[in-house]
Parts: sequence; structure tokens; C-alpha cells
Amino acid sequence: MKKNKPRKIVSHDVIPSVMSASSHGAPVPPAERILRFGDRWKYAPAPEAPSDLKLRSRYELFIGGKFVKPSSGKYFPSINPANEQQLAEIALGNAADVERAVKAARHAYDHVWGKMSGRERGKYLFRIARLIQEKIRDLAVLESLDGGKTIRESRNIDLPLAAAHFFYHAGWADKLDYAFAGRRPRPLGVVGQIIPWNFPMLMAAWKLAPALACGNTCVLKPAETTSITALHLAEIFAEADLPEGVVNIVTGAGDTGAALVNHPDIDKIAFTGSTDVGKRIAKSLAGTRKKLTLELGGKAANIVCEDAPIDQAIEGIIQGIYFNQGHVCCAGSRLFVQEGIVEPVIRRLRNRLRSLRVGDPLDKNTDIGAINSREQLERIRSLVESGREEGAEYHEAPCELPAKGYYHAPAFFTGVADSHRIAQEEIFGPVLSVMTFRTPEEALERANNTPYGLSAGVWTDKGSKVFKLATQLRAGVVWAETYNKFDPASPFGGYKESGFGREGGKQGLAAYLQID
Ligand code: NAP
Ligand code: MG
Repeated sequence: MKKNKPRKIVSHDVIPSVMSASSHGAPVPPAERILRFGDRWKYAPAPEAPSDLKLRSRYELFIGGKFVKPSSGKYFPSINPANEQQLAEIALGNAADVERAVKAARHAYDHVWGKMSGRERGKYLFRIARLIQEKIRDLAVLESLDGGKTIRESRNIDLPLAAAHFFYHAGWADKLDYAFAGRRPRPLGVVGQIIPWNFPMLMAAWKLAPALACGNTCVLKPAETTSITALHLAEIFAEADLPEGVVNIVTGAGDTGAALVNHPDIDKIAFTGSTDVGKRIAKSLAGTRKKLTLELGGKAANIVCEDAPIDQAIEGIIQGIYFNQGHVCCAGSRLFVQEGIVEPVIRRLRNRLRSLRVGDPLDKNTDIGAINSREQLERIRSLVESGREEGAEYHEAPCELPAKGYYHAPAFFTGVADSHRIAQEEIFGPVLSVMTFRTPEEALERANNTPYGLSAGVWTDKGSKVFKLATQLRAGVVWAETYNKFDPASPFGGYKESGFGREGGKQGLAAYLQID
């Protein structure tokens, strides 16, 4: 036990008083000083107006086009992580409910959806996309309430991208015969889809839109802590007159997901979640005829070279790890900085962190909302603890966290070794590990030294360096001079323990088709 080892906690620099004068020596008015040196504005609260989509006190399963009670008669609470209050209770689906849902999906596949022309399917998808678009603000409020993400992100990123996925795949539905030259694509049948809590609506759209465009029917299992928006999406399906049974939603816990994986009449499982559960699913499907795609964890390297534009890189770093409370599988959680620019990068990162606002997810000024669950907050804290125990220096932005709810201040570690747990394991929270390198070759080797391979980032002024690094980084997505940008037309997925199969683009369609 390393219990008695002193902890290194480095507090943030106090802004030197000399900085209160402008470069001409004239006093700078307080507001300008705050702006220039990254102190906090005292904003008045700016809460988003409540949603017109009313939260229900109880949510049922969506099977065969109807909301139905779970056969167990049991419900579990969905909590608002910003204040720990119960929002609603959610039906606990079991194997019998999965059986009903798969039956409904099979019936819809055999009699309606599997026989429908791509042109007709496309019309439904366009209708769903437009309905999501109309309700973006309302759905965003529910997403932030249930999951803790900031309203700015759910309203400006998650929901518009969810609509974009339906629009994009609606466009493909009648063109599948042209997508794979000289080959004949056919749907797979009934697909089971299991999604995590970090992008509830967006992950539902990533899964459902391509599957439906390709002519499959679906049974979707949302994450236990974030089921509410999926059930409002079910209402949108009903409003769009989507034939009953084409999409079924069975809420519940891990056992519900396992029942779906093991159901004999499923043709494909599409899973997004942790590498541990992904491995378990792969084992249980081995030797069956079921197809499988896995989108799993990541430990992305964000590489900043000496010739990079530092200010842009800082914004990219912030976007890469503090965005969505760090609950992003492709988060740039390992920052590699070239030795010559370590000091200015750390200084600016520290200043920028001071300006991030942590608090109420529904406040439009909030940059970092609530951690999705108590369990996740504890996981982050325990990894932070391991980083300190292993000897890295912890730097946390000084900020007051709300007394109630699950929050973590934005932070970073310096003095991190490649062998530390914080450099190897997915932290899934707003905590960055900073490491330094001498040559791009060294950065490349260390960036690839991880069991994961989902994403990476490169910051340099030289296009040739971008191409060199991007082609040798073993990651499914490499961003250059930007970070965490998504588009339905661009395939997303991992190497190594980050999974296999792609979502988005033509490659994402292929994962839902039998191509002869
Ligand atoms: P998780 O524990 O693996 O859960 C993901 C989903 O699987 C949830 O719906 C979960 O239900 C369900 N599940 C749990 N045990 C299961 C089992 N034995 N069989 C079938 N389903 C089961 O992951 P998480 O902690 O919720 O999500 C975070 C993870 O997702 C991170 O590792 C992150 O990197 C990864 N992720 C990857 C991507 C990507 O595209 N690569 C995108 C987003 C997230 P419950 O919620 O009820 O437990
Ligand atoms: Mg919740």
C-alpha cells in the first residue's frame, strides 16, 4: 500500500498583478482583465425554458407500435444527475419482453418493411428526420435532464446530428442498388441494437437510421440511466406512422441486453459500449450465424507538434476532452505535447480551464454539466486517485461544484508515464493526461502503444506531417487541426480493442446488408 505517500496537488497560478496593466502600462478595466486572463465571469443564471414535451412519471416498453407494460411489472428510477432527483420510472424489460419485441420485429420484417421498396422506406425516414428537427429544442431539454450533458451540446450537437443521420440514410434508402457496384444488397432481417448513455439520442439514430434504410427491423435497448429520449423517439415513430413492429424499444439493465444478444431469432447485433461487455457479447455470439459489429472504448492520443497554432490547439484540446464531461469514447484523453512548447501549452491550458463553467446542465452558459451517474463519478475519482498514487501531478481548475448532483472539476495530470493507469485506461471524465515527446516518430510509437484504436488528433502546420502521422496512427478516425467532429457521411469505428465494423457512410450501410 502506498497510503502514506504525500500527494502532489498543484494549485493554479495566481494571476500576477502586473497583468492588471495593459501593454502600454495603462490600467485595464476589470471586465477586460477577466476576459484576457481567463478568470470567471459572474454570469446571471440563463436557464433553458422547460420542454413542451412533457416528462411522464412512468415510461413503458414500445413493442409492436404500442406502449406496453413490462411482463415483470417492475420499473426502475431514472435520475437527473444534476440534482439526484428522480425524473420518472422506466419499465424493466426481461427475456419475455425481448421475446415479444423480436416477434413483433420479425412479423414487421416478413410482412411489411422487408417487402417495402427503398423509395417508400426513405419517405418514412425523411418524415422521422423532419419530426426530430421540429422537436430539437424540446428533446434537447429532456436529454440534458436525464443524462446531465449541457443544453448547449444536446441542442447544438446531439439532436441536430441525430436528425442529420435520419436525413442522410433516408437519402440512401432507394439507392442501395447503386452503392455496391455490380453486387446485390439485401437486408439482414431483425437486428438487436444496444447503446450506451453518453449520446443517448445520437447513438439511437446511429443505430436505427442505417438499419431501417437498409430494410431491417429493430429491437433497441437503451442504457439504463438514459432511456427517456429513446421513448420520446418512439412517439415520433408513431407520429410518422412507421408501421408497427418496425422499431421496438425494450428498456432495462444489462440482463435485458444479454437477453437480446442471446435471442435465437436475431440476425445481427450492433453494440456500442464498453470493451468488457463487447468482449462478452463476442464470446456469446461465437459459433452462431448472427452478425456482429462492436463500437467500444478508446484512449485517443491528441498530438501537438511544435509548429502547431497553439491557440487553436488549446481549443481543440478542450473540445477533445472536456466536451460532454469527457463522456466520449473518442475523447483525446492522452495529450502528447512536443518538448519545445510544453510551457506555453500548459500555461494556456491552465488559464483556459479556469474559464470553463461547471454546473447546471440546463444553463446556457454551462460548459461542463453533470457526470452521468454516481457510479461513473466514482470511477473517475478512483482513476484520479490512481494517477496521484502512481506519482503524476494533478492540476484541477478551482471551481465551486454544486452541493447536490454528480460533478467533477476539469483537471489534468502532468508527469504522466505511459505505464500509468491514467495513460492506459479509459477515464470517461473531464481529466486529461499530458505527456511530452521529442520527435514525431516517438509520438507515433507511444500514441499507438495502447490496446485501443478508436481515434486520434494531430496539430501541426505541415500538411506532410499530418499525412505521415495520420497514415501510421492505428486509429479508426484521425482528426487534423480539429477534434470531435462528426458527420453521417463519414465512417466511424475502431481498430484493435475499440471494436470492428463502421457506422456512417457507405461502410456503415454495408454493416446492415447481405451483399451478394
Ligand atoms: P456498457 O456498460 O458496456 O453498457 C453499454 C450498453 O450495454 C448499455 O445499454 C448496457 O445496459 C448494456 N449492457 C450491459 N451489460 C450487458 C450485457 N452483458 N449484455 C448486453 N448488454 C449489456 O458501457 P457504458 O459504461 O454504458 O458506456 C460507456 C462505454 O461505451 C465506454 O467504454 C465508451 O468508450 C463506449 N462507447 C463507445 C462508442 C464507440 O462508438 N466506440 C460510443 C459511445 C460509447 P445498462 O446501461 O443497463 O448497463
Ligand atoms: Mg438519468
